Amino acid sequence: MPATLMNDRDLEFMLYELFNSEALINRARYQDHDRHTFNEVINTAKAIAEKHFLPIRQKLDTHQPTFDGKKVHLIPELKPAIDALNASGLGSATADYELDGMQLPPIIASAANAYLTVAGGVGLGYNMLTSANANLLQAHASQALIDKWVKPMRAGRFMGTMAMTEPGSGSGLGDLTTKAIPQDDGTYRVSGNKIFISGGDHNLSENIVHLVLARIQGAPKGVKGISLFVVPKFLVNDDGSIGEDNEVALAGLFHKMGGRAQTSTALSFGEKNGSIGYLVGEEHQGLKYMFHMMNEARIMVGTSGAVLATAGYQYSLDYAKNRPQGRLPSCKDPLSPMVNIIEHADVRRMLLAQKSYAEGALALVLYGTQLSDDEKTAPSETDRVYAHTLLDFLTPIIKTWPSEYGAKANDLAIQVLGGHGYINEHPVELFYRDNRLNTIHEGTTGIQSLDLLTRKVPMKKMAGYIATLAEIEKTILAITNDQTLASLTGYANDLTDAINALKTTTNTLLSAMASKNIDLVLSNSVKYLEVFGHIIIAWLWLKQGIVASKALAKPLHESDENFYHGKLQALNYFYQLELPQIHLWCKTLQNFDSTSYDMKPEWF
Ligand SMILES: Cc1cc2nc3c(=O)[nH]c(=O)nc-3n(C[C@H](O)[C@H](O)[C@H](O)COP(=O)(O)OP(=O)(O)OC[C@H]3O[C@@H](n4cnc5c(N)ncnc54)[C@H](O)[C@@H]3O)c2cc1C
Repeated sequence: MPATLMNDRDLEFMLYELFNSEALINRARYQDHDRHTFNEVINTAKAIAEKHFLPIRQKLDTHQPTFDGKKVHLIPELKPAIDALNASGLGSATADYELDGMQLPPIIASAANAYLTVAGGVGLGYNMLTSANANLLQAHASQALIDKWVKPMRAGRFMGTMAMTEPGSGSGLGDLTTKAIPQDDGTYRVSGNKIFISGGDHNLSENIVHLVLARIQGAPKGVKGISLFVVPKFLVNDDGSIGEDNEVALAGLFHKMGGRAQTSTALSFGEKNGSIGYLVGEEHQGLKYMFHMMNEARIMVGTSGAVLATAGYQYSLDYAKNRPQGRLPSCKDPLSPMVNIIEHADVRRMLLAQKSYAEGALALVLYGTQLSDDEKTAPSETDRVYAHTLLDFLTPIIKTWPSEYGAKANDLAIQVLGGHGYINEHPVELFYRDNRLNTIHEGTTGIQSLDLLTRKVPMKKMAGYIATLAEIEKTILAITNDQTLASLTGYANDLTDAINALKTTTNTLLSAMASKNIDLVLSNSVKYLEVFGHIIIAWLWLKQGIVASKALAKPLHESDENFYHGKLQALNYFYQLELPQIHLWCKTLQNFDSTSYDMKPEWF
């Protein structure tokens, strides 16, 4: 099978035709770059992915990290691969020049990372968490903490984690019990147990910088009493050299269905005297700061969902073009040659579904990534605030839709390969296993849907909700006002109907949340997120359709013509077979269907 990691043509389409990323070079921050340097970075990532990560992808999966009671052991090939990545500077691609970064636009870094994610799987998680950890500290920590911890992380000497989850506190972080006791010298002594901490221990870096959520002695109960601390594995001396062990003990490793390259650790902090912790920002504001990292991580999770979906789609497409099996129903001659399975309409159905999920999800995560850049670097304050409003609102959807539908796409990739998809000679089952985590970590689908409906929709007088619908309506209007796009009018009308159903549903739910049994009203919140997600993806497909229609109006090379026809067919698939479902889901929501709510635990 060819080792196609990503569809280069589609990434080029997304970056330069759909999102016009080349225009970013007009922003002061990116003035040293041009399309050539953007592509060089993407090609470097691709080369590292192919040279260092792809050859060890399967071994990373079959040789899970082990713990001998003293040390963690990873396959020896991982460290040189990560070192190669660090040496390339890609680990801090978006960071400022002063911090040895490349000051690249996040959307370009995300495209580059896509190749690495497909080749290295969760092996990349070490670097991604480190970068998000450093970004949080840079935004919220004192200069002293930045100098001590961020610089070595940017340089690839230290790695970082986010340590929130505890055995008794997963989705509900308000119940966490890790303690922090203030000391006379301004530090804290931190003690408690954390679980599922990704990259919590390993031999890939000189030190590990844990960002730990804990409750300062005497702090209020619930989320309002949570503070954030830097708790390193090893203390660091004033000259930057590694100092004493800081009582962060590895209590054990978890073994997982996927994502096996990255250690998942149970950590015990400060069992004897307490681990030394440094407060980040102000007391009791820890969850607010952690959201800086979580929001970034949520886009990363959605991106992983989308990219793995794309990888499975690409792989199963190549397979379907080359696997002869059976004949068409119309062929009655058993002596005629077999056809390649792509000739069977049902296989094309599975490929189209994957394409519509994967490329729809990829467009969504790149859109979100661009918003995360716009909120900081857009030319005017108004644009920056607007981007922030959109991103803040869309984050639960950017995290969840690509994760849910990415795993569905991978499920279909397995089905396209039949029995061959179920065995580990082909990577599609690995993509599925890796992807399956994405609906769970960084807030499960259920939690994200509650966040969307109870917080994000009503937030700031519904500003994010209104801005999002306004963006969609702009696209619809652009089609209505442009005769050359007449072939897309039917889709624009379908999208208008879908938005109207969404508006009615939202109004019904919001007023019921104030007047009815809220537990019942929220019992189908996941369906609400799915409705919204489908509408956003339908919108992004329509935007892709506009680009494709305009391109097809001019003479093209045959391969480009095929490419754009493929876009229009996937758009059609989404509007014929996916979008109509939202009307049923809206009815379920508007009727306050109580089936799940009424089911009694003892009836199961
Ligand atoms: C491989 C892996 C890596 C991870 N990495 C990290 C990490 O680096 N750092 C870190 O801090 N954590 C990490 N986590 C933890 C992860 O974020 C949690 O597993 C997740 O938040 C869910 O918590 P839980 O496992 O305790 O499940 P629970 O909270 O027990 O949830 C179980 C089920 O109940 C549902 N549920 C729970 N509460 C509600 C509610 N109020 N309303 C409706 N439904 C609800 C959930 O949606 C879920 O379906 C990782 C987990 C895994 C598996």
